[in-house]
Amino acid sequence: MIRNAIQRFMYGRYGNDQLNLFLIVLYFVLYMVLLFLDWAPLYWISLAIFACFVFRLLSRNIPRRREENSRFLRLANPVLRWFRFQRTVHRDKEHRYFKCPNCGQQLRVPRGKGRITVTCRGCGATFQEKS
Ligand SMILES: [Zn+2]
Repeated sequence: MIRNAIQRFMYGRYGNDQLNLFLIVLYFVLYMVLLFLDWAPLYWISLAIFACFVFRLLSRNIPRRREENSRFLRLANPVLRWFRFQRTVHRDKEHRYFKCPNCGQQLRVPRGKGRITVTCRGCGATFQEKS
């Protein structure tokens, strides 16, 4: 009954996406901060973020909201990729990760082999590396 009413209300409206998820998480983080830090500007910022969230959720301008979300994802992807890479490095105890001093290509060598000569697969430069 209530679910039906919500469905009818949401019909033709944009709903949720990654940007909205980000906004609502940000809002809750600020909400938590505000429990400890009573600073008026932050309160208004958090309210504006929440208003943005509701506005996007109920918006009927779907192409515009899609465009915003894809812009957000373009910005967020390098950050997400960086976090994923840090997790890989942290979990992979078999290899040591480093960047090629010549071209900056990400490389890895097996750990515990002493001093080894590495050939970069990006630019072909060779150099000594501790593993
Ligand atoms: Zn290189």
